[in-house]
Amino acid sequence: MKISFKLKLIFSYIFVILVSFGFIAFFLDKNLEENSLRNIQSSLITQANLIEGQIASDRLRQEDAPYLESLVKALSSKTKCRITVINNKGSVLSDSEKSQEEITQMENHLYRPEVKVALTGSIGIDTRYSSTLKINMLYVALPIKDKTGITGILRLSLPLESVQKTAFVIRKIVLIGLFFALALAFVLGSIVAGRTIQPINRMIQISHRFSKGDFSRKIIQVSKDEIGELAVTLNKMAQDIEDKIKEAKAQNQKLSAIFNSMIEGIIVVDKTSRIISVNPTIEKIFSVSKKEIEGRAFLEAIRNNDTYEIINSVLAKGKPLSAEISLILPVRKIFEINATPIFDNNIVSGCLIVLHDITEIRRLETVRSDFVANVSHELKTPLTSIKGFVETLLEGALGDKENNRNFLKIIQDHAERLNSLVEDLLSLSHLESKEIVLNKSNFNLRLQLEEVILGFKSQLKKKGIEIKNELPASISINADKDRIEQVLTNLIDNAIKFNKEKGSIFIYAQEVDGKIKVFVEDSGIGIPEKDISRIFERFYRVDKARSRELGGTGLGLSIVKHIVELHSGSVGVESTEGLGSKFWFILSR
Ligand code: ADP
Repeated sequence: MKISFKLKLIFSYIFVILVSFGFIAFFLDKNLEENSLRNIQSSLITQANLIEGQIASDRLRQEDAPYLESLVKALSSKTKCRITVINNKGSVLSDSEKSQEEITQMENHLYRPEVKVALTGSIGIDTRYSSTLKINMLYVALPIKDKTGITGILRLSLPLESVQKTAFVIRKIVLIGLFFALALAFVLGSIVAGRTIQPINRMIQISHRFSKGDFSRKIIQVSKDEIGELAVTLNKMAQDIEDKIKEAKAQNQKLSAIFNSMIEGIIVVDKTSRIISVNPTIEKIFSVSKKEIEGRAFLEAIRNNDTYEIINSVLAKGKPLSAEISLILPVRKIFEINATPIFDNNIVSGCLIVLHDITEIRRLETVRSDFVANVSHELKTPLTSIKGFVETLLEGALGDKENNRNFLKIIQDHAERLNSLVEDLLSLSHLESKEIVLNKSNFNLRLQLEEVILGFKSQLKKKGIEIKNELPASISINADKDRIEQVLTNLIDNAIKFNKEKGSIFIYAQEVDGKIKVFVEDSGIGIPEKDISRIFERFYRVDKARSRELGGTGLGLSIVKHIVELHSGSVGVESTEGLGSKFWFILSR
């Protein structure tokens, strides 16, 4: 049971009052009763002595009843005491409260304690309950002596009513006093407790707010005593906690900003491999929602056995682990996974998993090795031919007047092929290098195209192809003129190479979102649907033999793409096999 401070204080006041009143009442009661008894006793003795002197001893010896009766009654009315005269044998001779007749029926008083003492010559005193009068009585017995010895006993008795009355009055006063003292204790206790408790209650209220994280209000220091000091300490503690919470929140915000913005996927699991937290990248990788998977078992939430095994191994061994896993999501992706144990008091309490998408890195590695293989292959073919024909010539064909020029012509063709291949490779590697600087200027695209077309005059004529420059006369762009010339050259070269005899080429432009989209449309062989997406890759050709025959290197479109992208533009193609292709590039003005 919770007893309030107020009640405790009031109870302690009451306790002190009750104890002190108890002591006072006990001693006062006892002393007063004894004192008044003693006073009555001594006055009774004095009176008895006086009365004894008035009793004529010869009349007593003669047991003169009428004499004794009138004397006893007269003195009794004066002294207000009951007076009894008893002879030395214990028989009552006279009693102020009894008639002569009643006296004869009274029992012998020889064995009454006070009488017994008086018969020995001393003053006998006794207090007892009188069955005759039904009250407590004080008896004082005095021996009546003459020369012959004790002739009788004079007994004075008084009801102790007055003593009891005095005690009663005192008890009443003590009780009333006690009642007032208790009432005062209650009132005083309430006031003092109220005054002491008010600031404490206020402190409790505000401390409750503190515990809920509300530090907006501070405790007012009402006094300079211990309670005031407590208020100051509590305020200081609250301020410290508030500062610490703010610091922790800021730290937390920073961490969660990092956690949420990391491109690596992060999963935190507990020691039972239950997911505690994941970052948005994980949601994207596994197409799951944070809300759904947090709190669930790993394998239930993310059905990936490889990752699960890594987690289990880290949790069991307490050692970090790295591995490469591939996920089909639905596209195949490769991830580098780093799992690190989380320790709490040197015991593994969880695991931190970081997933890093290395698909692009791996793809680039493949592209690089493919490129090396392709380059070697492309170089090897003409070199093998040159070597073969040179050997043939050296072995005697040099004298063969009919064929030697022919052989030399083939060697020249292959050497030229090698040359254009090396040139394309050089320009591609130059375009790919980070150091490239575009030499931009404003120029008229239509006029530049005219120049390019002029360079293809003989080829166009040979195939009977008609080419139309439909670019607007005023078309001007800001770009690297030489490089754009290369773009146009490569696209027109392809449009001629992969065109039909007597085919046609149209070059025109459109304005798209403030940019210029240039089209190079031919009526050639077109590109099969399946090859369209790869056509801009290095060395990618629909028909390798045909391209080679036409003097192609398979790098032309790659170079186009690179140049346009260096100008922050884009390239594309629309084509229908057998009908023709429409290459386009977009450049800003
Ligand atoms: P190439 O040196 O072989 O021309 P490119 O990179 O310029 O290399 O072109 C790659 C391939 O794209 C060609 O081999 C060809 O198969 C296809 N191609 C390019 N332009 C056209 C076009 N205008 N019509 C049909 N196919 C084309």
